[in-house]
Amino acid sequence: MSAVYRFAPSPNGELHLGHAYSALFTQARAREAGGRLLLRLEDIDRVRCPGRLGMQAINDLRWIGFSWDGHVRWQSRHMEAHRKTLDRLEALGVLYACTCTRGDIARAAAGAGTCDPDGSPVYPGTCRRRALNCDELEAQGVPFARRLDLTRALTLTGALTFREHGSGPAGETGRVAADPGRWGDVVLARRDIATSYHVAVVTDDALQGITCITRGQDLFYATAVHRVLQALLGLPAPDYWHHGLIRDGDGAKLSKSIASRPIRALREAGVTPEEMRRMLGL
Ligand code: GLU
Ligand code: ZN
Repeated sequence: MSAVYRFAPSPNGELHLGHAYSALFTQARAREAGGRLLLRLEDIDRVRCPGRLGMQAINDLRWIGFSWDGHVRWQSRHMEAHRKTLDRLEALGVLYACTCTRGDIARAAAGAGTCDPDGSPVYPGTCRRRALNCDELEAQGVPFARRLDLTRALTLTGALTFREHGSGPAGETGRVAADPGRWGDVVLARRDIATSYHVAVVTDDALQGITCITRGQDLFYATAVHRVLQALLGLPAPDYWHHGLIRDGDGAKLSKSIASRPIRALREAGVTPEEMRRMLGL
């Protein structure tokens, strides 16, 4: 099986130095492996990711010397595939409708005080016990999200692991246990868009035949959720390679303000792509 890599930014703002590092890191891994390299724009949230930012991302990536194989995949054009994934999960009985607002969740979760790895309150499961009917909610015009019933999902999948070539925030590496428990019942279809990051990324990685997923350590813990979805859907388990925060040429961690400098601003300030790579220690 030949290796397939991808860089999959969400163009909800200008790409910055952190993106440049992640893109070039992915390109280096793909070249080492003699594999293919794909570009996917994760723009399912059309409000936050207007087409012009996707176009700018493509130009910025060309400028830094990132070159991909084949067409760019605009994720928003494949919502039908995401819907099919949700239908399959629905058929497995692992989804439930949730009408809670952010405020409802914050109030209900306040007592428990548990947070997910991103620091948001864990959903207390209120609507799991209500067993709301999606058709009825739709008929009544009540907006609702769809959540994963994690306990039920795990009874179907059993314990899961993944292969980590890089490392997680706590140094996790090698064969790692996928522990989605800290996330609780995550949202798989948002109220405003009929999909979610988790559903879209798992669906598209499988459809594009990705064999190794490279990305920042900030997404390491989300991998556990992705493994559960892959197992439920009978999709292959890719390898993972999470990278740390970007460092400068001397190995010092780049400050947040430098890491979030738009690629465009550097270009306009007369920085060359070679100088930028040096700033990133590449
Ligand atoms: N689109 C996601 C982001 O920019 C990354 C997706 C991934 O690499 O899994 O945060
Ligand atoms: Zn709810």
